[in-house]
Amino acid sequence: MQRLKIEGLSKTYPNGTRALDNVSLEIPIGMFGLLGPNGAGKSTFMRILATLAQPDSGRLTFEGYDITRETTWLRSRLGYLPQDFGVYPGVSAERLLDHLAVLKGLTSKPDRREQVNALLQRTNLYQYRRQAVSTFSGGMRQRFGIAQALLGNPQLVIVDEPTAGLDPAERHRFHDLLSEISEQIVVILSTHIVEDVHDLCPQMAILVAGRVVLEGKPETLTHSLRGQLWRKTVTPEELAELQDVVHVIATRRVAGRIQVHVLAGERPGPGFEAFDAGLEDVYFATLSGRREVASC
Ligand code: ADP
Repeated sequence: MQRLKIEGLSKTYPNGTRALDNVSLEIPIGMFGLLGPNGAGKSTFMRILATLAQPDSGRLTFEGYDITRETTWLRSRLGYLPQDFGVYPGVSAERLLDHLAVLKGLTSKPDRREQVNALLQRTNLYQYRRQAVSTFSGGMRQRFGIAQALLGNPQLVIVDEPTAGLDPAERHRFHDLLSEISEQIVVILSTHIVEDVHDLCPQMAILVAGRVVLEGKPETLTHSLRGQLWRKTVTPEELAELQDVVHVIATRRVAGRIQVHVLAGERPGPGFEAFDAGLEDVYFATLSGRREVASC
């Protein structure tokens, strides 16, 4: 059963920006990756799901309940880690989590203490529980963000660009945590980092300019480009010439030279070798149909 169903979702801001344009998605249990460049509409989508913004049109249901109408019902089942996650300076992790638990309606003090301790342990923050969250590293802060999102055992967890700014070790630890929590609930991860989706999400969609332009399983999407990707190392002059005649989807600097990735039904010219697509190629091929060529 698809737990979360989105049909024909549109949103235009008062200044005329059409942030979402007829988005439809069906999202099962597990981790779902919403991938897209900055400005694609991801945060707008997440804020609507989190009942913090209203769509102009469209139908959103979670377990059959209309999200835009049953906001209280949804909020009691929702965990949200927003992109900008502010904390009060000087307040310890334990106290802040307890305070947020009260706001989430956990009125019993013993229950709260039990849940706060369990979440601090689960996110590997228990030993730092008396430290102010405002002094945490980026990775610790994001783990705290997940701890607060998990208060009250949510069935739907929304995390908006959670790994931007984390170092590789912090990112890895955060990925493990997200994988663990997504085993039994719906977790939606919005990001512009292809690797996050590749590592974590059995299902994904690519959002560009407010529209879903591709969706499916990462391995199916990469498989669909089989036999159509070619690469060659070129000079800047050769690259300029190639761009006029073939479909360049990405360029990559390798040891001071440029490796060019080309999408073509057959070998686009001498010196090109075939290679298997990664999710990054799928993403860039999708974007390049709509925007300029990506450079990575
Ligand atoms: P993303 O999260 O993918 O970067 P957003 O949902 O933040 O995308 O933004 C989608 C589009 O809507 C962008 O063009 C952005 O500038 C615009 N936008 C976002 N919030 C507002 C707002 N409050 N008022 C007007 N335009 C907005």
